Amino acid sequence: MSDNPRRPLVIGNWKMNLTELWARPLLDELLPRLEDASAVETAVAPVFTSLRAVADRLDGHPTALAAQNVHWEEKGAYTGEISPGMLAEMGVRFVIVGHSERRTHFGETDERVERKLTAVRRHDMIPVLCVGETEHQRDEGRTLAVVERQLRKGLGMLTVTDGGEIVVAYEPVWAIGTGRVATSEQVDEVHRMIREQLGSVYGAGPAGRVRILYGGSVTPDNAAELMALEEVDGALVGGASLDAGKFSDIVHAAL
Ligand code: PEP
Repeated sequence: MSDNPRRPLVIGNWKMNLTELWARPLLDELLPRLEDASAVETAVAPVFTSLRAVADRLDGHPTALAAQNVHWEEKGAYTGEISPGMLAEMGVRFVIVGHSERRTHFGETDERVERKLTAVRRHDMIPVLCVGETEHQRDEGRTLAVVERQLRKGLGMLTVTDGGEIVVAYEPVWAIGTGRVATSEQVDEVHRMIREQLGSVYGAGPAGRVRILYGGSVTPDNAAELMALEEVDGALVGGASLDAGKFSDIVHAAL
C-alpha cells in the first residue's frame, strides 16, 4: 500500500446510539486495538451530545472525530441545528453529509447536501458525501444514473484541488443495516464510475486522491474482500462500529 496515494480510511457511524456513558467503555476497548493499525486512518461519529466527551477521550490518539450531520448556516434562528463552525471548534475532522437515513427520514435533498458540503469545506473539515441507490432504483437499472446525479449535484460548484478535501461513500440503501452486502462486482462498477466522474470534474490527479469508501453491512467477514478492490479506499461502518472487536477487525482488513 506504500505507493497508494489514498490512505485507507474507516469511519464508524454510531448513528443515534451510545450516550457518553456507553461511548467511554467502547473507546477504552477500541483504541488500544487500533494501535498497530496506524496505516489506516480511523474516525468515529458519535451523536452530537457525546462529541465533547469523545473528543476528550480521543485527545492524543490518531483516531479522528467525525460528525453525522451539520447545518449549512453559521448561526441564527435554526432551532435544533448545529453549525459547521460549532463542529470545527469541537475538533471535528470529518462530517457525514447526505446519509441515506437523512435523505429518507429528514428530507435531505441534493441541494441541501451541496450547501452542507460547501459549509463544511469553509471550515476546513472533510465532508463524507454519501451516495447510493435504493433497491427499486437498482431493479430498474438506474443505479449508475442515480449515483452520478447525487455525486454531481452534491459536489455542485465545490472546488477540489488536492483530492484530500473530500471523501465519497458509496452506500447502496438496500445494504444499509440489512445484512445484505453488495457484491464485489456491484461495488467495483459503482466505485469506478465515481472515480471517472470525479476525474471529469476535477482532473485525474485530484480525482485519483479522493478516497471512495464503501458502506452497507460491512462486517469482519466481508471487509477483506471489499477492501481488496482497487477503487475501495475504506469503509463507512454502521452497526459493526458499535462493537470494538468487529470495528477493529474491519480496520485491520483495510491494512
Ligand atoms: C451506515 O450507517 O452508513 C451503514 C453503512 O450502516 P451498516 O454498516 O449498519 O449497514
